[in-house]
Amino acid sequence: MAKIAYIGIPAHGHTNPTLPVVQELIARGHQVLYYNAESFRAKVEPTGVDFRPYAAALPSEREISEAMNEFINASLFMSSMGETLAPFVLDEMTREKPDLILYDSTSMAGYIAARTLGIPNICLLTHFVLNGSNLGFVPMARFFWSAIPHLPRLMGWKRRMKARYGAEIAGGITEYADLNIVFTSQAFHPKNTFIDDRFHFVGPSINPATRNSTELSDGREDSVGRPTQSGEGLIYISLGTINHLDNAFYHAAFEAFRDYPAQFVLSVGKNTDIAQLGDIPANFTVRSTVPQLEILQQADAFITHGGMNSVHEGFYYGVPLVVVPHQFEQLLNGKRVVETGAGVLIGDKAPYGRVTPDELRSALDSVLTDAKYRENAVRIGETLKAAGGYSRAADEIEAFIGIREPA
Ligand code: UDP
Repeated sequence: MAKIAYIGIPAHGHTNPTLPVVQELIARGHQVLYYNAESFRAKVEPTGVDFRPYAAALPSEREISEAMNEFINASLFMSSMGETLAPFVLDEMTREKPDLILYDSTSMAGYIAARTLGIPNICLLTHFVLNGSNLGFVPMARFFWSAIPHLPRLMGWKRRMKARYGAEIAGGITEYADLNIVFTSQAFHPKNTFIDDRFHFVGPSINPATRNSTELSDGREDSVGRPTQSGEGLIYISLGTINHLDNAFYHAAFEAFRDYPAQFVLSVGKNTDIAQLGDIPANFTVRSTVPQLEILQQADAFITHGGMNSVHEGFYYGVPLVVVPHQFEQLLNGKRVVETGAGVLIGDKAPYGRVTPDELRSALDSVLTDAKYRENAVRIGETLKAAGGYSRAADEIEAFIGIREPA
């Protein structure tokens, strides 16, 4: 039995894939100390981990939502969170002496503690490997332009981190390990020259049993899902848990689909005030949060911001996508969706996510009427399942610490 510490960040998209993995590790007899913000306790604790809240005050989910409209803001947020958490995590790891540290790819506190103390470590990636990707000239130019005003702050952070932990250990905003577990399939990942044999693709880590208890937590008891009588289609819409403060998008969806012959389930996120959305069409059910995995199993199409988990989860259940990215990383995911022929991409010009009702309607028409979209979604879903998921991730982790033969 090994003692394993997981060092995460307070983001659902980074947390959800870890839940089936830690539950599996516990079922195999390991002890897991799971570090995240206190607000994630209710979501994580049912997996059986020993939940350890971060002592430092971190931004609230609303503050994160408001800050994440630009990719540069994500970098600034990660750098400052790493700096805030590193002393705490270092202390904890010194005291707990785990056999292994698993750290989220954006949780540099875990990376720094592991390297300072010489503890074996594995990086978990819930997104594509960005280094070495062909990100495109315009998006990159735009990213660097947006970074210019923040350079003094980023350089100050880099200097302090180097002074405190040493140049070798402080690293950057994201650092990899000798083993990096990537929660997608190699077939779905874009070609990338940076990827080598340190990166193991295990597919998305999806287990509905680890999810639904917390995802109905907006207090509504009534169910959402396919209407039993009408025989109409069911369309699911969500901009995810971070970049969802976009009432203009929700109004465009209302206008686009008010008379559309389908039922719509719209998850607007915990930070959107539903009362502010105005006149909600009769064929819409609007919630702060819904059990996404359950809804997707009934859905005919998914209009999504293109977060990595949402894309995977849609394909896992064979649902074609309309991707409306709200940030740079989601744009890359959306481009990959288009390459696979399993969905369409709209609102992909900066500022991302601006779409008209006409664009929304014709994108949905396309994925519903042309069977190739659903066929490709099913096909990609099969490659994702074949990659092994959380059980393969647990195998990789056990092999790394020498208690299982490598696959
Ligand atoms: N999610 C959910 N219910 C909702 C909205 C989202 O369960 O009403 C889950 C979804 O299943 C996914 C995660 O939240 O696992 C969102 O992650 P993603 O990477 O798609 O986007 P992010 O929120 O990180 O932008």
